[in-house]
Amino acid sequence: MEVKQFFGGIHVPHYKSFTEHKAIKEASLPEEIIIPLLQHTGAPNEPLVNVGDKVKAGQKIGATDKFVSAPVHASLSGTVTAIEPRPFITGQMIDSIVIAVDKNQDKLELANNDLDKVSKEDIINAVKEAGIVGMGGAAFPTAIKLSPPPDKKVDALIINGCECEPYLTCDHRLMLEKPAELLQGIKLLMKMLSVEEAYLCIEDNKDDAIEAVRQENDDPNIVLLRMPTKYPQGSEKHLVKAALDREIPSGGLPFDIGALIQNVGTCVAIYEAVKYNKPLIERVVAVTGQNLKDPQNLMVKIGTPLSHIIDECGGIVEEPAKVVVGGPMTGRAQETLNVPVVKGTTGVVVLPPDMALEDMEYSDCVRCCKCVEHCPMLLYPNQISIYCEAGMIEDALEWNTMDCIECGICAYVCPSKRPITQLVQRTKPLIRELLSKR
Ligand code: SF4
Ligand code: SF4
Repeated sequence: MEVKQFFGGIHVPHYKSFTEHKAIKEASLPEEIIIPLLQHTGAPNEPLVNVGDKVKAGQKIGATDKFVSAPVHASLSGTVTAIEPRPFITGQMIDSIVIAVDKNQDKLELANNDLDKVSKEDIINAVKEAGIVGMGGAAFPTAIKLSPPPDKKVDALIINGCECEPYLTCDHRLMLEKPAELLQGIKLLMKMLSVEEAYLCIEDNKDDAIEAVRQENDDPNIVLLRMPTKYPQGSEKHLVKAALDREIPSGGLPFDIGALIQNVGTCVAIYEAVKYNKPLIERVVAVTGQNLKDPQNLMVKIGTPLSHIIDECGGIVEEPAKVVVGGPMTGRAQETLNVPVVKGTTGVVVLPPDMALEDMEYSDCVRCCKCVEHCPMLLYPNQISIYCEAGMIEDALEWNTMDCIECGICAYVCPSKRPITQLVQRTKPLIRELLSKR
């Protein structure tokens, strides 16, 4: 099936060869895990345990009755040593449950449910109980995403296996190593949403993954789409356009045009939650980059400190280095390695400092228009950056700052190294505040 091309975007060097051919390896046990009570978009959880409590792997230790949220679980057995604010990947301090990990871990107790017998209600309840969130980085609670308003009929499911950010390979390896689980997860979603067709989108720099899924796929209603490799192919707006030739309206969401998008990692987590009642306590993380000794795709327990997995990969070989969580285009440079892997952590990339976009020295706009030529949302990033920098919120709104998908392309191509994406990120809450007062 032909896929639609989009305007703008860039062909960035992939840098995926560090880990794309390395099988997923189980990370070793850390001494301590840090479970933030807020690691999703929405309301924070309240702790369900106290300091001194013994907890078992898979036990729910944080929850709330607020609508948009997802509970958190102990990813390993141990003893709660603190409940206190700890550094988070965003640079904020987030209330977290700290657990001293037992040296000997019991095997996780799992169910073995018959997937032919599960109802829609069973699926949504399992997803909710497991605390599943979007694992492509957005971390929006999946149970909420799977419950669109009654007036929004979803007729197409899109599964995002593009992984278009440089360096990242966690989704690639998952598709290659767990195609059956991925397809089962997609079938559960189709059942849950009563959709006839699903489109699994994979970029053409992962042909081995496309082949692995093709061989396993026995359902003609799950359509494999081989997408051209171009950043940001995996953005929701561009995926919908490519797969369905539909456009999400400005300020709208995929379900406004009948689409629902899930990441491949989320599909595997949904399968494990429904089949085994397994909570989201681990995920694949690409730990990679030029300045790391032995890059790996690791299966990491949620809450494991970055310092532990970097050590596990032989440590940083060349200083100075900048550690970015997520891909280099949209990820965040870290001040400390004592922050935990959370449900939305796709990668940890150890870069020479001049390759990390964040925190670079920058200068005035020279009006070269490179950012305009490449912006995949057809915006004027040069103009937007000037308004955002000057705190001109009304003007930033008028120039469609809210449509920015924060892909980082403008900052990447800008010869003045202007931190346009960061300026947009800082300005969006101010625009929301302005709109709420109207
Ligand atoms: S970060 Fe925003 S403004 Fe910049 S290129 Fe991407 S969509 Fe356009
Ligand atoms: S790329 Fe940078 S210097 Fe060129 S127009 Fe855009 S903001 Fe200005």
